[in-house]
Amino acid sequence: MIVAKFGGTSVGDTAAIERTAAIVRGRLAQQPVVVVSALAGTTNALLDIATQAAKGQFIVAIRGIEMLRERHLAVVDELLDGSAEANDVAADVSMLFDELAHLGEALSVLGDLSLRSLDAVASYGERLSSPIVAAAFQQRGIPAVWVDARKVMVTDGAYGKARPQTDAIAEAAREHLLPILRDGRVPVLGGYIGATPEGITTTLGRGGSDYSAALFGAALDAEAIEIWTDVDGMLTADPRVIPGAKLIEHIRFDEAAELASFGAKVLHPSTIAPAVQRSIPVFIYNSHRPQAAGTRITFDAPRLSVRAVAGRGNIVLVNVKSSLMLGTPGIVRGIFSVFERFKLSVDVIATSEVSVSVTLDADLHLDAVLTELRSFGDVTVERHRGIVAVVGSGLGGHTPTMARALAALGDMRVHMCSLSASAINLTLIVDGDQVHEAMRRLHRAFFEEAA
Ligand code: ADP
Ligand code: ASP
Ligand code: MG
Repeated sequence: MIVAKFGGTSVGDTAAIERTAAIVRGRLAQQPVVVVSALAGTTNALLDIATQAAKGQFIVAIRGIEMLRERHLAVVDELLDGSAEANDVAADVSMLFDELAHLGEALSVLGDLSLRSLDAVASYGERLSSPIVAAAFQQRGIPAVWVDARKVMVTDGAYGKARPQTDAIAEAAREHLLPILRDGRVPVLGGYIGATPEGITTTLGRGGSDYSAALFGAALDAEAIEIWTDVDGMLTADPRVIPGAKLIEHIRFDEAAELASFGAKVLHPSTIAPAVQRSIPVFIYNSHRPQAAGTRITFDAPRLSVRAVAGRGNIVLVNVKSSLMLGTPGIVRGIFSVFERFKLSVDVIATSEVSVSVTLDADLHLDAVLTELRSFGDVTVERHRGIVAVVGSGLGGHTPTMARALAALGDMRVHMCSLSASAINLTLIVDGDQVHEAMRRLHRAFFEEAA
């Protein structure tokens, strides 16, 4: 069997859902499990609604809910026009919106927004899209069965970015998905959402439907995980920054994981790990052009010195400097234990004899962390930084490539530079407002100029 995941734009409106149905119909022989995102833009709208409600702007929140209700009911109407199920689905959809309105009211009374409440509100996007898509499939002759993803995606209670419990997911997948597949039918689930063993709704973090697809694929030992989106595959850079970015037809798991972590939004950064564990190839396809080649992600793509570039802003650089580091074992451990205690994940690290520099996401509240770090030495913080990454499994030790990357940046300031020992990713920290320009210069050097 395979898992086929369709992102927001692939289920964004009636025409998109029609295309998705055609793609799934063409894959029935491969026994697909279908994972869908919320209708494009819905998760953003829901998070806004939750924030407005908690700020006491109840009328604004309700207006937002009613707009979403209208949009979803219009899609139901267009997709299921005249069918016996249309009324049932419309009633279910309306009931979910009534529930959501109650939730909005409760938040506005409380005037408080916990991560748990945010997850509860955000979950409606996929809880709405998945039964609509399942009903549309049924009407188009696909034997689809809607499954509440929260019964299968068992997670811990780290709301906002819940961690999946893989053993429990495997067991739930055997219980809830295998019988449907054995019957020759097609399970349809929402991505992104899950629940704790106690049944409290959680989410896997933004963009998490890709991760859901990989986790279901690993749980069922799928033959392939397909990510259907709005671009032709993984490209040599984000096409919104570099319109001429080129398709990568075959890429290695480790390269794709690095690119996803450093800004290639086409794949959620956690997607690769479950696929690697079970050696399941991941494919990225364009749902607007299903016949196009797409990208294949496996272990064995030939090594290239540069496969692609990626970048993202909103980074903070923290530098801890102390002459005590000279010959005093354990200081670095001490510094990292601070990050561990605050559950902060560090992206890039560089050290010298007397200093340790790391980068972190800027959204985090850093004051308490910095206070603790000061016990190890002088701490300086550089905000508004960005990361650009040059990724390629043949990069390590290839001095001309590294020289070319640095030369391409020209007069641009590089605040930090790191090449891991696995040496597939050269990361450069630049000014936050220079990330796109740095990506353009690197892309030009490696993909647009003759070698
Ligand atoms: P979906 O809703 O299908 O999950 P996303 O918006 O999450 O879609 O991801 C697809 C988008 O990722 C593309 O439209 C593109 O703008 C962006 N993107 C960023 N980097 C890359 C890259 N290297 N290759 C392809 N797309 C990329
Ligand atoms: N709907 C969720 C989001 O917008 C998950 C996803 O699309 O992957 O973040
Ligand atoms: Mg996505």
